Amino acid sequence: MRQFEYKRAENTRGAVHAHAGQASAYLAGGTTLIDLVKLDIMQPERLVDVNRLDLADIEHSDGGTLKIGAMVRNTTLAYDQTVQTDYSVLSEALLQGASRQLRNRATTGGNVMQRVRCSYFRDGVSPCNKREPGSGCSAIDGHNREVFAVLGTSEHCIAVHPSDMCVAMAAIGATVHLASADSERAVDFLDFHRLPGDTPHIEHDLKDDELITHITLDAPIKGAGSTYIKLRDRSSYQFALASCAAIVALDGDTIREARIALGGVGTKPWRCKQAEAALQGASATDESFKQAAQIAMEGATPYKHNAFKIPLARKAIVRALRDAAERARRSAGEPT
Ligand SMILES: Cc1cc2nc3c(=O)[nH]c(=O)nc-3n(C[C@H](O)[C@H](O)[C@H](O)COP(=O)(O)OP(=O)(O)OC[C@H]3O[C@@H](n4cnc5c(N)ncnc54)[C@H](O)[C@@H]3O)c2cc1C
Repeated sequence: MRQFEYKRAENTRGAVHAHAGQASAYLAGGTTLIDLVKLDIMQPERLVDVNRLDLADIEHSDGGTLKIGAMVRNTTLAYDQTVQTDYSVLSEALLQGASRQLRNRATTGGNVMQRVRCSYFRDGVSPCNKREPGSGCSAIDGHNREVFAVLGTSEHCIAVHPSDMCVAMAAIGATVHLASADSERAVDFLDFHRLPGDTPHIEHDLKDDELITHITLDAPIKGAGSTYIKLRDRSSYQFALASCAAIVALDGDTIREARIALGGVGTKPWRCKQAEAALQGASATDESFKQAAQIAMEGATPYKHNAFKIPLARKAIVRALRDAAERARRSAGEPT
């Protein structure tokens, strides 16, 4: 049996201090971590329990941004009134993730930091560059259908980033706030997760002596409509084959601003800035949405079993943009 030490942190400083300098892992909701410890994929020598930290609040700022503590549970965030009205794409993404029980435990920080669902990573024996750098990637020539990417892949790793919440945050625009024992820093959400490149074992921009304290969401775009479309093999309790978070703001029938982010197809939450640029100033029609979907999937690399994800993701994009535009139209017609 593998031994580990358990330490309960009472404050942020204590947590980062306990975590630094050894093979440690923060224990938040435990819904990813405990599985991976049981499977012997993660072997922390110390678990630092962060459940008592004062990081479970959702706060509004004067500038219209929203501050979400790292310990805010996924359920709490999804049903927060401001999130439901101003960031409905985030609420929808959260509510389509996992199961009710898991969402009640899972935290914002843990969701950002969740590990890939690649079966070769999780079986503990197959060559996997993420688990054992330099050993190879079994997925490239193996079974690579459900949780394998077509965007942002490398010859060293093709595992999808599995989060739904992160896709919505990538579309909204967000900042990850990190604390170490003696400093704090902020990282743009789009830069926090790393592409696998030739170092797939480095998944994010978090140092050993740092903790995620909170995430701030950019102020919502005035008058925008938004939605999250998740396409999967089964309609609940399933990871995305392809998903799309879309936000659309209109001036009449002209697109003032559009945001698109994808899940289920990228090795990190995948923002589609070129497709967004193509939509700005265009008419909010299916033709424009289809063109944007085409641009978004340019450069996608299909593997043996997941080539279907490219047309599937295009469909998710068109549907999400259409629904978001329709919601923007409806809210423009509503009295303020
Ligand atoms: C059966 C199943 C189905 C699922 N389906 C979905 C799905 O459809 N969509 C989806 O998006 N997700 C899904 N998930 C994943 C789930 O959302 C994550 O397990 C959850 O969000 C992780 O949060 P947690 O608080 O439990 O993290 P933990 O398991 O406690 O931690 C996860 C990782 O984050 C680190 N960590 C935690 N908090 C911090 C912090 N504040 N700072 C730095 N590091 C931290 C931990 O050390 C660990 O490495 C599923 C999970 C399961 C088990």
